[in-house]
Amino acid sequence: MKFDALIQSGDWKGEKHVPVIECPDEVASGQVFTITVSVGKEIPHPNTTEHHIKWIKLFFKGEDEKFPFELGSFEFTAHGEHVGGPNTGPAYSEPCATVKVKLNKSGTLLAISYCNIHGLWENSKEIKVK
Ligand code: FE
Repeated sequence: MKFDALIQSGDWKGEKHVPVIECPDEVASGQVFTITVSVGKEIPHPNTTEHHIKWIKLFFKGEDEKFPFELGSFEFTAHGEHVGGPNTGPAYSEPCATVKVKLNKSGTLLAISYCNIHGLWENSKEIKVK
């Protein structure tokens, strides 16, 4: 068994678990820009104590690089937990995070997310650096 057999994918417009990567298609080399990763942009994912998105990780692989680089790792840790019982808490973290990045070569952004009951999901986006 390998990880790739466990990581699911799909069109984020029809599958609520697929992480969405939002950033410009093209950026200037060495210039800071913003990337937002989220789950549930089109179809909201449940956010309850029993069922929620636990984390999203974002990587970059340069076009001629062998290995990916981790750009950010985002944990979503409040899902209605409370001493009074599940889903009675006052706080719910939504699965959305923003990171500022500089790149100096073109490549691929890759996101992987984890739902506590539906497992691992991935998506990717090409980015051109000029
Ligand atoms: Fe789920």
